[in-house]
Amino acid sequence: MDIINLLSEQISNQIAAGEVIQRPGSVVKELLENAIDAGAKSIKVHIKDAGRTSILIKDDGSGMSSKDAALCFTRHATSKLKKVDDLYQLQTKGFRGEALASIASIAHVTLKTKHKDQQDTGTLIEMNGGTPMRNEECICEHGTSIEVKNIFFNVPARRTFLKSDNAEFTHIRNEFERICIAHFETSFILTHNGNEVYNLNAGNLRKRITDVLGKKSNENLVPIEEKTDIVTISGFIGKPESAKKSRGMQYFFVNNRFFKHSYFHHAVSKAFEQLIPEKSHPSYFIFFKIDTAKIDVNIHPTKTEINFEEGKFIYTILLSSIKQALGKYNISPSLDFDMETSFDVPLSHKNEPPVEPEIKIDPSYNPFSKFETKKGTSSGTNKALNKQGFGQKSDTKEWENFYAIREEQKEGQTQLIESEDDYSKNKYLVKNRYLLSNVKSGILIIDTHRAKQRMLYDEMMSTFVTKPLSAQKLMFPLQIELDQNEIDSWVESKTLLSQLGFHFTIETEGLKIESLPSCVAEKDSNICVQNITNSLSGTEQPERGELAHALISNLVYVVSNNFHVKSDHEIESFINQLFTCEDHSFCPFGKPIMQTLTIEELTTKF
Ligand code: ADP
Ligand code: MG
Repeated sequence: MDIINLLSEQISNQIAAGEVIQRPGSVVKELLENAIDAGAKSIKVHIKDAGRTSILIKDDGSGMSSKDAALCFTRHATSKLKKVDDLYQLQTKGFRGEALASIASIAHVTLKTKHKDQQDTGTLIEMNGGTPMRNEECICEHGTSIEVKNIFFNVPARRTFLKSDNAEFTHIRNEFERICIAHFETSFILTHNGNEVYNLNAGNLRKRITDVLGKKSNENLVPIEEKTDIVTISGFIGKPESAKKSRGMQYFFVNNRFFKHSYFHHAVSKAFEQLIPEKSHPSYFIFFKIDTAKIDVNIHPTKTEINFEEGKFIYTILLSSIKQALGKYNISPSLDFDMETSFDVPLSHKNEPPVEPEIKIDPSYNPFSKFETKKGTSSGTNKALNKQGFGQKSDTKEWENFYAIREEQKEGQTQLIESEDDYSKNKYLVKNRYLLSNVKSGILIIDTHRAKQRMLYDEMMSTFVTKPLSAQKLMFPLQIELDQNEIDSWVESKTLLSQLGFHFTIETEGLKIESLPSCVAEKDSNICVQNITNSLSGTEQPERGELAHALISNLVYVVSNNFHVKSDHEIESFINQLFTCEDHSFCPFGKPIMQTLTIEELTTKF
């Protein structure tokens, strides 16, 4: 009647091996991790037939005593964990004490090891499918060497499941690269069938990455660095132009352990949004240092997925540190560029106080004009705006097209307003929009329009998160006709809209707008309300932050249309103000604010 048996250790090890050891690459990963945990400074990996025939890993780490050597193949034998609390203080790669037992249960394993304090001889142990075959003294160097032969010899189904040598070796190489990038202070050798694949000397991270990826990659690496109480982020990202069609060089490490994290990956992709073509992938080598108690590495047997207690915070920090790094790279010449000389501001203006950028008023504005909306349709602007939201793909084409006409009109207008004389005096301003400046590597071009958008956005956002934006009561409230859906969408977001300065009441066939954000010029009231309506009714239950971003971006676009830099001294204060924005390289719509025309690029034009 009784049918329950306890499985033998050998069978349970084989079952565990099914989880931990899926292929030769998994053996390489586990053995490399053990060597790192043992403090090795030099690790050699020799592979035969993509690991089917043999995997030999030699290290110069601590080595094992003969007692430990005998014990290390037993399941749950580990030197890295003694009490439950240790689980939250882990500094090592391994801790389950499962790898060697699993490997030994599905292969022929020979271990030679000599503890660093041991003189004379070391220990040799041979295991065959989990059964000890030899345990004797041997002559060997300090450290450990483990050879794993005939993987899955006793699990034929697994052996036949292995892919081609090429595919299996790629797995080995991937595992090898993940570890050797994280441990650049250790030297590594990898050979396959006697051919050297990698011979990596100890060095720094940049050197290790370029040794692995090739010398040319050096110039494409942009450092990132961010220190907060919760996490320290460091490492490199690839320049946008080095993005590849295939994924690949994407590495996250937490406390030097490689891991995968789709949420953090999203942060990186978002930072690169609009800087790289669709379907191409940026490379990154990003290291997180975090208190071990704040992560859970225990959720996956191969430990490549990790839970973070403060994932959301880290996401934000990661996104901003990459944007900042990309920004710095984008304006890298400005690092060696001295504003005083490069802008060459006429001396006469140097001590004058900065002048507020001018907001022009349109005298033709008619507050009584009725504004018409296309009922029930969602315009291009609307769609485009929705795409600007957090965490969504963006496509600014529609957005920009929408405004192109307005911009053309505005430019025409400006030329009439500005006297020829004014314009020529200001020799650094092209078309009242592009500021040119000499920098060491060439010419730095700043799009003042986008710069203004960035300033306005930051200003409005930072006000908005603490208090409502200031509103201006309209002397003549705007009557706007809207369909029921549109009215509903205004009503649904009433609180948010009032924080932005929009106050309104509901009428039978629309709304009566009683106040607008005070930054909106009266002449822009209609277009502003129209755009807000489009954003509101086009997004399906947007998250509050996302909607705030869309609405504020919208206001920014409308307000920035009235902006022009005019005089030299104004330029100086304008630039100073721009550089106080944390993200001064990109406008709120993700477009670059500045570009450099290098001397080389200039030379090719002549
Ligand atoms: P874990 O790494 O989870 O502790 P393993 O099965 O991988 O479990 O290893 C068991 C133990 O064997 C380790 O805790 C360590 O003490 C010892 N060991 C394994 N490999 C090495 C090595 N290369 N050098 C020194 N000790 C090792
Ligand atoms: Mg281990």
